[in-house]
Amino acid sequence: MNYLNLFQYIISTPIYPHYYCASVQEIPFQKLKQIGVKCLLFDRDNTLTKHLETKTVYEELLSKLKKDFDQVLLVSNSKINEHTQLGLSVAKTTSKKPFNFQEIQKNHIDKNIKSHQICVIGDRLFTDMVLAHKNGLIGILVKPIDISNEDYSIRLMRIFENFIMRNNQLQKHSYHGNLNF
Ligand SMILES: [Mg+2]
Repeated sequence: MNYLNLFQYIISTPIYPHYYCASVQEIPFQKLKQIGVKCLLFDRDNTLTKHLETKTVYEELLSKLKKDFDQVLLVSNSKINEHTQLGLSVAKTTSKKPFNFQEIQKNHIDKNIKSHQICVIGDRLFTDMVLAHKNGLIGILVKPIDISNEDYSIRLMRIFENFIMRNNQLQKHSYHGNLNF
């Protein structure tokens, strides 16, 4: 899929997150549970770790979430390629976000979990939030941890993403769009 196809795909999709937080720590996970979320799909780079780093400051939180939710999976477009990372199972797919939900669902998500019970948490509009919107999932956007080491292709996409976010004041205020928290 080239950039033109990607843009066509994205343009036909609502793109704002259902909820925005400055960091993973601030996400109201108990409220997600109350509205019936059973599965969390975490992005890795700049959501749980710095870009291409292997340590997370959220280790303790992730252990707790694994007890609280039926499934907590890592869904990453990152080059890092191990089956288990940060204590989480990796939902490995042949395609990348935002195009890989069918594969994720078929191969990694419990059969009794419905799309609306799945929450994607990530730092990117064009990958994480589009994945959520295209497939009827909940999308929570977090502020990226540290963008200084990102590849040029991600930097380019962030120019467009930042334009959309600034336009929507997302970086100034928490955005509690469609979720009744
Ligand atoms: Mg990311």
